[in-house]
Amino acid sequence: MNLDTHLRHISGIGYIHGRRLAEINLLTVSDLINHFPFRYDDFSEIVQINEAQLNSKVTLKGEIWSIKNIFTRYGKKLTQAIFNDGTNSINLTWFNSTYLAKSIKVGDKLQISGKLTKYGSKLSIIMPVWEKIPDVSSYSTPRAGRNNESLHTGGLIAVYPETEGISSKWLRTKISQILPKAELFIEDPLPEEIRNGMIPLKEAYQKIHSPEDFKDVQDATERLSFDEIFWIQLKTLIVKNNWQNKPSIGKWTIDNGQLTNFLNSLSFQLTQAQQKVLKEILKDLQKGIAMNRLVQGEVGSGKTVVAAIVAYIAHLNGFKTLYMAPTEILAFQHYSTFKKLLEPFKIEVGLYTGSRKFTRVSQVSRVPKVPRGEKTKSGIEPRDTLDTLGTRDTPAIIIGTHALLSDKLIASDVGLVIIDEQQRFGVEQRAILRNKAKIPHFLTMTATPIPRTVALTLYGDLDLSIIDELPKGRIPVKTHVVPSKKRPDAYKFIEQRVKEGEQIYIITPLIEISETLKTVKAATDEFEKLKKVFAKLKLGLLHGRLKPKEKAQILQDFKNRLIDILVSTSVVEVGVDVSNATIMVIEGAERFGLSQLHQLRGRVGRGNRQSYCLIFPSSEESGIISRLKNLERISDGLKLSEIDLKIRGSGEIFGKRQSGRFDLKIASFSNLELIEKTRLAAQKILSGDPSLAKYPRLRVKLSSFEKVAPD
Ligand code: ADP
Ligand code: MG
Repeated sequence: MNLDTHLRHISGIGYIHGRRLAEINLLTVSDLINHFPFRYDDFSEIVQINEAQLNSKVTLKGEIWSIKNIFTRYGKKLTQAIFNDGTNSINLTWFNSTYLAKSIKVGDKLQISGKLTKYGSKLSIIMPVWEKIPDVSSYSTPRAGRNNESLHTGGLIAVYPETEGISSKWLRTKISQILPKAELFIEDPLPEEIRNGMIPLKEAYQKIHSPEDFKDVQDATERLSFDEIFWIQLKTLIVKNNWQNKPSIGKWTIDNGQLTNFLNSLSFQLTQAQQKVLKEILKDLQKGIAMNRLVQGEVGSGKTVVAAIVAYIAHLNGFKTLYMAPTEILAFQHYSTFKKLLEPFKIEVGLYTGSRKFTRVSQVSRVPKVPRGEKTKSGIEPRDTLDTLGTRDTPAIIIGTHALLSDKLIASDVGLVIIDEQQRFGVEQRAILRNKAKIPHFLTMTATPIPRTVALTLYGDLDLSIIDELPKGRIPVKTHVVPSKKRPDAYKFIEQRVKEGEQIYIITPLIEISETLKTVKAATDEFEKLKKVFAKLKLGLLHGRLKPKEKAQILQDFKNRLIDILVSTSVVEVGVDVSNATIMVIEGAERFGLSQLHQLRGRVGRGNRQSYCLIFPSSEESGIISRLKNLERISDGLKLSEIDLKIRGSGEIFGKRQSGRFDLKIASFSNLELIEKTRLAAQKILSGDPSLAKYPRLRVKLSSFEKVAPD
């Protein structure tokens, strides 16, 4: 057995349990020992019954005097035992556990833990945790030990995330059997100077699963959390180092006169925040190291115009710009925006997406040469078009989707790559840069509010700028969490607004992570239902499985007010800009994180009328309602993301789509101190030894994650 052994091959686990474990992503021995308890029950003190405190958790040692099954009139199955410890007797009661009457016999000595209550006049423990002991004096130190003395009662008892057929008791037993063998393969990769007083890794694993006291839990948590974040820090800093060591396309100059001309051509003044961020970007461009900056700003904070200014600077420096949008709809939208902003300066803008290989072909007179191959229906042979791109014949600015990510497009005359709302920041950069001699400047933009601690960790390889201000004159969106009995009123309100000439979005519940057939069906069902509710209004349906042309058509119709209510899944929502839309309805809202809801809300409130966000949860559980109510009070996306972080962990911030990637097992992104400590540690290691030559174990461990080893 080693850390990579599959659990189903471990004797005592087998196929059935193996399959159940796989359901909670526990596949290997390593996964199992990294399945940490989420709390501990404290049964540390063994007391005598006549001294035990009523209504508190107690651990007792004694003998079974009787045990029997009782079948009640109402069909309940009880197992009842009398337990005596020499000072007094109590009743033990279990539900639906008739097998116990067979496994526990009169005369058996037991150590039990549970809450001591009074049932009628009898002292009782309902559903006690129990284990057999050889005799009542057998535990001089009544503690959970890793010597397998008392695993399930006494001391601190680990409680794990469970799944059907896999109880905490089962996990405690298996982990206590497997960990001693697995430990032989655990090497502490941290050098002494970094460990700095923390306990060794092996000890941490022992203590997290079977602590003697809370000090053990604390020590183990400290160590394991440190490691978890430290590896991320080390990885991102190495990525950053690698980036800075690659030759860039060179220093750019900023022509202030031309820049002012451009700014003057805008119909508004940049906000303070936009100016600040622009300054940070301009500084990067003049450094001689390729920029790798993440600009974060709320929906509507004006990121696009900043991007356009930077593209203009690129052009003045003789370089082309690629702008990558997450969807074709958005690519098209940005294409129109850029054209409006840049064509007055005689800068050509082109569109390049999966379905429209090169719009520019039909729009400007200089059609790129098609040197060989057959022509397609559209008149362009895709491969040849690709070959032609990246030459002097292409527009100065090309807006598109992922389709842009072809090496052919990243020709040497591309000096700036703008990545809008890609979610997987960094990954695209690396893909583009493979095989690339000189790195262009990268500008990544997102409306996803990223808590500072997360930015310092997961995106530690990027420099961060924040546009923390909306243009003046925006009216805050009024938000209501609507109880189901008010739904008819809400629908009336919607009809009223439509009569006033306004438009509505209705977001259908999030069914699955990606736009599956199930999601589409749910959206379609909702759409059919709504068509009946709003029989007099014009409704449109948008989802990710539509053809790009159909999507574009529906959006165009919505923009042109041919559609009153746009019913849409959340997947296609990002970044659509229709300022006449004033109500955002979100169904099944509890499925979304607050940050995501906030981003959806940002689709309205763009014009000069009061806008509303109506939140319909599909459950009225108080926890759900109080979480959603945060949206009524808070309009700051970053604050909401911090709340997400606290309530539901980091996965929430980035949406279900990729929660796995950001879920931490034990550390927390809200622990600023830990984030800073690990970052310093990683910096310290790398500053003296950027290639980790002195730290072979760190190298080995790093390479086991993914390909980020130092170049
Ligand atoms: P984002 O991409 O950050 O969501 P956009 O760049 O699309 O935001 O800007 C939203 C709207 O606000 C656009 O119509 C844009 O023209 C406008 N806008 C941008 N900056 C300003 C500003 N400083 N003052 C007024 N309006 C602005
Ligand atoms: Mg935008």
